[in-house]
Amino acid sequence: MRHFAIVGSGPAGFYTAEALEKAYGDQARIDILDRYPVPYGLIRFGVAPDHQSLKAVSKRYDKVAESAGVDFIGNVTVGRDVSVAELLGLYDAVILAIGAPHDRKLGIPGEDLHGVIGSAEFVGWYNGHPEFAELDPPLGGTHAAVIGNGNVALDCARILSKTRAEFEGSDIVGHALDALDASAIRTITILGRRGPHQIAMTPKELGELGHLDATLPVVDLNDFPPVESDQALEPGQRKSVSILREFANIRANKPKTMIFDFFARPVRIEGEEGKAERVIVERTELDEKGAARGTGETYEVPASLVISCIGYSTPPIEGVAYDERGGKFLNEKGRIADRLYAVGWARRGPTGTIGTNRPDGYEVADQIAAAMEPGSSQDRPGAEGLKRLLAERGVMPTDYDDWRKIEETETTRARPGSPREKFVRPEEWFGVLGR
Ligand code: NAP
Repeated sequence: MRHFAIVGSGPAGFYTAEALEKAYGDQARIDILDRYPVPYGLIRFGVAPDHQSLKAVSKRYDKVAESAGVDFIGNVTVGRDVSVAELLGLYDAVILAIGAPHDRKLGIPGEDLHGVIGSAEFVGWYNGHPEFAELDPPLGGTHAAVIGNGNVALDCARILSKTRAEFEGSDIVGHALDALDASAIRTITILGRRGPHQIAMTPKELGELGHLDATLPVVDLNDFPPVESDQALEPGQRKSVSILREFANIRANKPKTMIFDFFARPVRIEGEEGKAERVIVERTELDEKGAARGTGETYEVPASLVISCIGYSTPPIEGVAYDERGGKFLNEKGRIADRLYAVGWARRGPTGTIGTNRPDGYEVADQIAAAMEPGSSQDRPGAEGLKRLLAERGVMPTDYDDWRKIEETETTRARPGSPREKFVRPEEWFGVLGR
């Protein structure tokens, strides 16, 4: 028998569990650890609540969690409750699938003003993430700025734009829905430091913006290179750029606008009494290598809420080699050290879709299977040893049935069309479990 510990129960963790189960059958016990009693990481706390088709992938992970060789062990923080070195003593291999939950910093003056938040915080707030559910972002002003030209920027801008009715059928948490419904924001400016050809936004996500009930997407065609030059783009990017161009042709009167401001690099955030009021932006142009180069010309973008969506990083864990620049674990094709691996964003950095994690997890599982042939055995204690250690330390692990109880409570409280309006808040978790 082999024992594997996967740290993190998001997409990368679950695809790796699925792959290891396929490789080893009943010759392995696979434990998926998470710091929270609720699994699925990015699916529950990161994917936008109005993108239910993406969230539905958790049904596939349910099947993995329910299979005989796999266990979910929640409420255990690796690096605090148990070290990676200890896990390596208990398990044949340890796979770090902890994602990239921390916001990258802008590194500009004014970043600490009230009203300037990172996308992990904002996204966590509307998804009921334990660390950010109480964020209470300032929505009382009329102007917001979203920094970055990726899909997360689109998620944040779209969530700020939607009406209450447009959230019907989503699983947005109740406190965020009420606050967004009462929001005074009328202008959302998306700041991209480069141009339309350099966006990291995908066609489906951009296309949604043309159909918002109360918000009009606005572009300035002067920011675009000649339309013929779109031909040189790869097809997906060409589609994205053509959707952006079409926004210029929408003729409609809507109460809110979402302005795409290209070649606009934030250089400082200013405001009185410690609160953000405006972003000072420098006009840029592309240099020979396609990077943003400042022109020296600056202007102001009013914003009492500034959300930076410029990427994420994986937190370091004591004793694990770390790549500071990349914000991920130092690894060679997922291998960090003997019997220690990384998958997903903790391996590659914060890029790619949920599906990208599948081949990633399978590749690492293949490496493990090559190093420890299915059928071979080592007498490591696995979950039994881990649970003994946690009990000595007063840590109370939770299991998959506990998660089911939390989920059932949520379902019972929900009204149709709003499944997480009254979600089980982190402070209620152990009450629901009767502990
Ligand atoms: P991303 O795609 O890497 O985009 C980050 C953006 O931030 C880029 O436009 C980048 O511009 C900009 N940026 C970086 N540093 C900056 C700075 N200092 N100042 C101004 N702008 C800066 O990252 P993401 O949006 O966080 O998304 C992460 C991954 O999740 C992506 O693969 C994304 O597609 C995926 N995702 C998918 C969906 C979906 O499928 N619905 C939803 C959300 C996220 P430069 O290009 O100039 O560096």
